[in-house]
Amino acid sequence: MSRKRQDRFQLIFEDSEFAEALTSLGIFVSHYPSGRNLASDLWIAQGFSPEEIGRGLGWLDKIHPEDRDRVKRAAERVFTGRSSSMEEVFRMRRRNGTFRWVVTRGRTVTADHEGKPELFLGVDTDISRFKAVEHRLQQQNDELETLRQVAAVIGSSLDLEETVRRILEQTQRIIPYDTATVQILEDNHLRIIGGFGFQDLGQVMKLRFPYPEAGSLSTEAIDSGEPCMSVDVTQDFPAFVQPEGNAMIYSWIGIPLIRRGEVIGLMAADSTRRDAYDESHLRLAATIADHISVALENAQLHDRTYQMAMSDELTRTGSRRRFQVEGRLLYESAQRSKHPIGALMVDIDRFKDVNDRFGHRVGDRVLRRIADACREELRGSDLIARYGGEEFVVLLPEAGDQDGWAAGERMRTRIEELRHEELDRPVTVSIGVACEIPRTASGFDAMIQRADSALYRAKASGRNRVVLADVEKSGR
Ligand code: GH3
Ligand code: MG
Ligand code: MG
Repeated sequence: MSRKRQDRFQLIFEDSEFAEALTSLGIFVSHYPSGRNLASDLWIAQGFSPEEIGRGLGWLDKIHPEDRDRVKRAAERVFTGRSSSMEEVFRMRRRNGTFRWVVTRGRTVTADHEGKPELFLGVDTDISRFKAVEHRLQQQNDELETLRQVAAVIGSSLDLEETVRRILEQTQRIIPYDTATVQILEDNHLRIIGGFGFQDLGQVMKLRFPYPEAGSLSTEAIDSGEPCMSVDVTQDFPAFVQPEGNAMIYSWIGIPLIRRGEVIGLMAADSTRRDAYDESHLRLAATIADHISVALENAQLHDRTYQMAMSDELTRTGSRRRFQVEGRLLYESAQRSKHPIGALMVDIDRFKDVNDRFGHRVGDRVLRRIADACREELRGSDLIARYGGEEFVVLLPEAGDQDGWAAGERMRTRIEELRHEELDRPVTVSIGVACEIPRTASGFDAMIQRADSALYRAKASGRNRVVLADVEKSGR
């Protein structure tokens, strides 16, 4: 090394003003032959002495354990002459135990004949602020991704329980919780309709919580219609009911589920950690809760549509579709248990006349009255549906010929005795009855067909009567 360069290096270490200017910019210098060392201000500012930093690889101890090996390998590549420069990002521990993010860039200025550095020059930069921004962006990215996933779950055609499960599963990525539930508000309680994080969700799904309840966080959230949070329920709400046999819950977050201005339930999440939540979690939970409310509404809408398809609005009996679905099930069950089952076809006599003489609206009222009368003669386990215009079909589990015929007679007389203020005469019905112990599960349609034939015979033989299929037996 030339004399001139040596002088220059001496200058670095010996001119204290020059050295201070360098270190204040984050520059560090190591001269290995003389063992002299200048530590950058960054290390000193973290509470370490220049001596601590200068000693060999002692500074490696002050690097976050997760980053240490990587930085050590990079430093070793330089010291052994395999590399003439390094650039590493790592967390530097401060005296108080917290960490700063640092990037270190350095290069060998002069090396011996093996390439090992004699003079090494580098610069340390604190990038904690950039890292904080990066972290926040990453978080926002996670949030967006989670919300995207949640929206996708809502759009899929899963049942409500599965929808809630998947939404909560996604939510866990952005709102750290141990267990979470969705509860809907019924008369005087909250019923759990879905959850995530439980060992035995089946048990949890059976739970109901009283509402309103003094000292309950759920009640507070629902009554205020506002998100509610506690980061230490043992302090804030001593009445908080802790789960049996599980770790204590400390943090709790509850968001009312609101649909069209009305509270319909609650989403609640909890954590066994204290201070698990802050305002940002509350904000996110509110967004997720909006999605859950939509899912709930979709499910209820689906329920309502299903109900509509399954019932007849005018007569409040089942729809023909319901008869096909549930009737078949009853028939199959009779077949399995080798028990009898009966079918009744009920058709109003000369109903066209009623309409022609008194109008359709009166006809509708009479139709409804007759349906009500039929229903009142039936048991809860019987099935009645509107089969056609003014025609009903009834399924009677456990009914043999005698029972079936007797039930038909009860309906017929009851209807005959109805008084209709709008009309000048009673209205009667004809009924065909077919009963059997099903031999095969596929005999359902044939049994209905037999009841229909019996009805035809009831009409042909004078109306206002009950006719039993196969056995000609009529009553009046
Ligand atoms: P019968 O069964 O005794 O042979 O005579 P009917 O006059 O009842 O004959 P049919 O079964 O052929 O006619 C059914 C009539 O029922 C036709 C229609 O005017 C009436 N009807 C069917 N559905 C409705 C309804 O929803 N409301 C009203 N008001 N009338 C209906
Ligand atoms: Mg008729
Ligand atoms: Mg008819």
